Amino acid sequence: MFTKRRALGLAAAAATALMVVTAWSAGAQEPTAAQAPDRGLYRVTGAQDAQDRTAVANSGVDVLGARDGAMEVVASPAQADVLRKQGMTVELTGDFAKLLDERSGDPATRDVSAADFPAGDEGYHTHDEMLAEISAAATDHAAIVSKSSIGSSFEGRDLPLLKISDNVGTDEAEPEVLFTCNMHAREHLTLEMCLHTIQRFTDGYGTDPTVTGFVDSREIYVIPQQNPDGAEFDISGGEYQGWRKNRQPNSDGSVGTDINRNFAYNWGCCGGSSGSPSSETYRGPSAVSTPEVAAVQAFVDSRVVGGVQQIKAHIDFHTFSELVLWPFGYTFDTVTDGMTQEEYQRFQDIGTQMAGSNGYTPMQSSGLYITDGDINDWMWGQHKVLSYCFEMYPSGGGIDGFYPPDEDIVPQTTRNDGAVDILLTNAG
Ligand SMILES: [Zn+2]
Repeated sequence: MFTKRRALGLAAAAATALMVVTAWSAGAQEPTAAQAPDRGLYRVTGAQDAQDRTAVANSGVDVLGARDGAMEVVASPAQADVLRKQGMTVELTGDFAKLLDERSGDPATRDVSAADFPAGDEGYHTHDEMLAEISAAATDHAAIVSKSSIGSSFEGRDLPLLKISDNVGTDEAEPEVLFTCNMHAREHLTLEMCLHTIQRFTDGYGTDPTVTGFVDSREIYVIPQQNPDGAEFDISGGEYQGWRKNRQPNSDGSVGTDINRNFAYNWGCCGGSSGSPSSETYRGPSAVSTPEVAAVQAFVDSRVVGGVQQIKAHIDFHTFSELVLWPFGYTFDTVTDGMTQEEYQRFQDIGTQMAGSNGYTPMQSSGLYITDGDINDWMWGQHKVLSYCFEMYPSGGGIDGFYPPDEDIVPQTTRNDGAVDILLTNAG
């Protein structure tokens, strides 16, 4: 496991660290198990279908991305061997810890006490910078923005909520649309997606006719950061930690629950999450055991007014793989309890339309691999909200998948403007 102590030691070892070979080319002889890193970055191919990919996802490895028949995973040498024995082609592409080191900049000049992104990535927002940004939006656009909170994270950080609409202080009879971001800690590009959306629908009001039309006819809710504890931990010590889960301690001494396996609909039902606390997809000891999920669920529950759920459509942003995903994740079936043929067709039609706008690939969530207890299954299964998961840029790649340079923020967030507008239109 990666620690701050290790980062401090690295400063002294900077000269040698930079010369360490951290990647093996495709044709190079692979290291033996004894040489393989504790956390290796592997490219797994040979999974024939979603059932095979589910087996990979459930083997305990950390799946970074999956697309076009290849999965990028972080695994121990033993886990890699298990996958090989299952018939997968498992290619070591690097040492995850060393790749994180390199991605975090020159260790010699690293400021391990700074609560900011590594040098060169300061364009990303920390938790405090996010709070300042949305407070400014609420102050500068008081007529159309109201800022509140859905609760606090495990470590006590605020989980803010923004509402953007005309007559924002009144609960008007307009369709409500929810955008949620940064559920997985290291997926920092998604926080930028929510902040960009806030900026677009506030700064553009009164000048951009499309924006003005949506603000006047919809009630737009944004929860920009569902996992602030994990996101802050991920940039602690001046370097990226590769962290996914929240920061809630577990009974076995490990840390973190996968928030996106902790929702109450068919929680833990179907082999799409892990019961092992140290797993990257640990579902928690019970459904809604994380304060973050409890807060999100309570907010959505609270939007049932007069027996009718006011939120009509939702996107939860993740990285990476460039996919538009829809429920269900817990089953390979398209039509099942809680999903009629007509409902599935609507998910597919709108999902395909949005993917046509941003160039992503559309599919049912379980077409990738089975997940259970995720937010989209709950939003639809519990509340019949048209709920999508976007896996943002890039389409593939290893360490850069989670940590694209901040120059990518503007092009990769504006890229989804058209898809966001399609969702807002279809919420009517
Ligand atoms: Zn994610």
